[in-house]
Amino acid sequence: MTRLLLIGPPGAGKGTQAVRLAESYGIPAISTGDIFRSNVKNETELGAKAKAFMDAGDNVPDSLTNALIRDRLAESDCESGFLLDGYPRTTDQVRDLDEFLASHGTALDVVIELVADPDVVVERLRKRADDQGRSDDDESVVRHRLDVYASQTAPLVDVYDGRGVLVKIDALGEIDDVTVRITEALAGRGIALPDHSAR
Ligand code: ADP
Repeated sequence: MTRLLLIGPPGAGKGTQAVRLAESYGIPAISTGDIFRSNVKNETELGAKAKAFMDAGDNVPDSLTNALIRDRLAESDCESGFLLDGYPRTTDQVRDLDEFLASHGTALDVVIELVADPDVVVERLRKRADDQGRSDDDESVVRHRLDVYASQTAPLVDVYDGRGVLVKIDALGEIDDVTVRITEALAGRGIALPDHSAR
């Protein structure tokens, strides 16, 4: 069982690393942002509720997000563990996740903080806006998302640090190098790559 969380500002590369780590550790990557985006795309009821918050760069209300994650974590593929990307991002979400995991007799094993300079992430998101056209990558929305991260999510890092489960990873440089840094940090915490994995 490997239960991981990736935390860091927008543009730090959480999604990119989450896909790679999920593959190499054989656990599902669960991104609340991706789940919301696919709901918006498929015009579901949840998507309709979430869209305005996302377009403005605000957090979707905790009531919607917590319920969604509880359902997702209850699915059978999470029995071998999971990697959360973008959840929890408020103290209320931490409380809800703690309660859910405790009710199953578990907790997060390691919280990986991707540390990146704000100027760098703004530049990365500017590029992504050109490449992918994500509606929340518009410059003024990006700045607001960084503010929301600083005020609502950054404090969670201290919470997890206080529990002794935090590792800080430099998110600058080559994608492969960042993956190696994370893998080494996890190994240092006793979380080894499965034997069949390429690295
Ligand atoms: P990023 O981390 O780059 O901002 P995400 O894909 O994680 O991108 O999130 C995009 C948007 O989805 C957020 O700005 C927010 O509106 C919504 N969202 C994602 N995860 C959560 C969450 N845990 N709680 C509330 N809103 C969320």
